[in-house]
Amino acid sequence: MLFLKNPQEAHLQCLTFKKEGKSIGFVPTMGALHEGHLSLVRRAKEENDVVVCSIFVNPTQFNDPTDLAKYPRTLEADRRLLESVGCDLLFAPQEQEMYPAPPVLRFSFGHLEQVMEGAHRPGHFNGVALVVSKLFHIVQPNKAYFGQKDYQQYLIIRQLVADLSFPVEVVPCPIVREADGLAMSSRNRRLTPAQRREAVILHQTLQEAKQRLLNGVSVEEVKKWVASVFAPLQKKDIRLEYFEVADGYTLSAVKDIHRHKEVVLCIAAYVGEVRLIDNVLLFS
Ligand code: AMP
Repeated sequence: MLFLKNPQEAHLQCLTFKKEGKSIGFVPTMGALHEGHLSLVRRAKEENDVVVCSIFVNPTQFNDPTDLAKYPRTLEADRRLLESVGCDLLFAPQEQEMYPAPPVLRFSFGHLEQVMEGAHRPGHFNGVALVVSKLFHIVQPNKAYFGQKDYQQYLIIRQLVADLSFPVEVVPCPIVREADGLAMSSRNRRLTPAQRREAVILHQTLQEAKQRLLNGVSVEEVKKWVASVFAPLQKKDIRLEYFEVADGYTLSAVKDIHRHKEVVLCIAAYVGEVRLIDNVLLFS
């Protein structure tokens, strides 16, 4: 596996791949890799001649400086994992090279960024769109792989690619979970063993909420039920930030699930200091 830190060198290498007639599958990450990330790399490997993975803890998408400071960084272990799944090029740039000067460009994604993660993490999707645009220019992928774990991010990237005509196919990939159902996340490493056991409540709540909705319980009632599940957990330092039932394409609020082709249930909660998100689709 090639390992490059310099954006120009990575760009030239990717152009060489292209000149050789090779298609490029791209997996952008922030590192601290787990099976969720590796599932994206494996899929990319199946569908392309070469796979490029990036590891960059992108400062512009963090609205909370503590979250950025505490984000796990495990480059050497990540390198070995990527090697083991046949990644061809690891691109891990330094902050100074990605942002030689503070960026001034601002994206606006309308309603897509005004709810859930966008509402609770101001500037987050602007940072995501900025870094993904830069990475697409550097890597020039044919296909780019994004996890449905970050469902809103996936929709934002689709919009970015459509509006800016990036010649990239965005491929959504299913959420990989731990045996108890907890969605894999780099942030799970920051949980204590007790918090790790409690964290499964996000997934359990989503599953139960899904069942209730499919059984005909109204969105309003299900939202009340979710609030009632989390209220007593405050004493265990578990705090619900939001639970939303949204249209699977536009993220508009859903009142009646049967008026939508796809509906996504999204949840964000703090377990101790660690903010976790998860989601489930209603009809697929
Ligand atoms: P991150 O390193 O958290 O920015 O994630 C990099 C990519 O991996 C994003 O497209 C995520 O949606 C995806 N990803 C993270 N966790 C999972 C998971 N548990 N299952 C599937 N994809 C994931």
